[in-house]
Amino acid sequence: MTPKNRPVIEKAARTGFCFGVRRAINILEKVARERGGVETLGAVVHNQQVLQKLAEIGVKAVDNIEDIQGDTVVTSSHGVSPDLEEKLRARREVISTTCHDVRRAQTAAAKLAQSGFFVIVYGDAGHPEVKGILGWAKGKGLATTDEKAVSALDPLPRKLGVLSQTTQVPAHFADFVKKIIDLALIKNSEIHIIDTICHDLRERQAAALELAHRADLLLVVGGRSSANTSRIAGLCSPVTETHLIETAADIRPAWLAGKKHVGVTSGASTAEDTVEEVMKKLEEMTAP
Ligand code: SF4
Repeated sequence: MTPKNRPVIEKAARTGFCFGVRRAINILEKVARERGGVETLGAVVHNQQVLQKLAEIGVKAVDNIEDIQGDTVVTSSHGVSPDLEEKLRARREVISTTCHDVRRAQTAAAKLAQSGFFVIVYGDAGHPEVKGILGWAKGKGLATTDEKAVSALDPLPRKLGVLSQTTQVPAHFADFVKKIIDLALIKNSEIHIIDTICHDLRERQAAALELAHRADLLLVVGGRSSANTSRIAGLCSPVTETHLIETAADIRPAWLAGKKHVGVTSGASTAEDTVEEVMKKLEEMTAP
């Protein structure tokens, strides 16, 4: 590219690990180094590059309780249900890396259920964090992103508690809440809404969206299986051309043709090093 048509390359105001993932990785690294390795139940974060680095110091992810070999297991920042935690503790030491924001959502679900509320978690029913939160409601709830799943309840519980998976988009949660109010506000009903969306992601999504409005190409760096990364890409794609990439190697030269302003952002489980590699590769690919 000539200096004249070289695009501006700009990193979003918030990239790299969120505090919850940073804390989980710090705990894991310490335990793995002290003990020469440790197992985690499920992937501790949804990011291949991070998992590879952790594997190098002896961190091994197992999918099922039955596969745990050692006498210590680390649970992920997404948290687990109390039943699962009890099962794990029955036979081994459990080190939790549950993020404080996830813990807040779990506590909210437990308190609502104890107070007689049917708990609705706005989120992906299959995601480990959502399964864990619902577990704290002791079976008195459901997880969905579709209000029809609530209207289908027969009878509709009189007391409804509504909270959110921590990684959801605030505006989407607000829309969902409005629909729940419309369908459930009947005689004697009681609806308790708790905003459990994580502050880091709220700011990260806002920063990504602000950049998307100014850029004609946005690259979102993160794991394809990472819910929060996909959510950022989904939020920005109606605004500008957006691609989710795992590493700098995924950047296609054709995306850069004719672009004036390239934005780069990342999910909360993406290391800043990976973001910096993307920035460097973009600089090289657009060099005069
Ligand atoms: S994204 Fe938010 S809730 Fe999830 S680990 Fe990070 S800080 Fe915690």
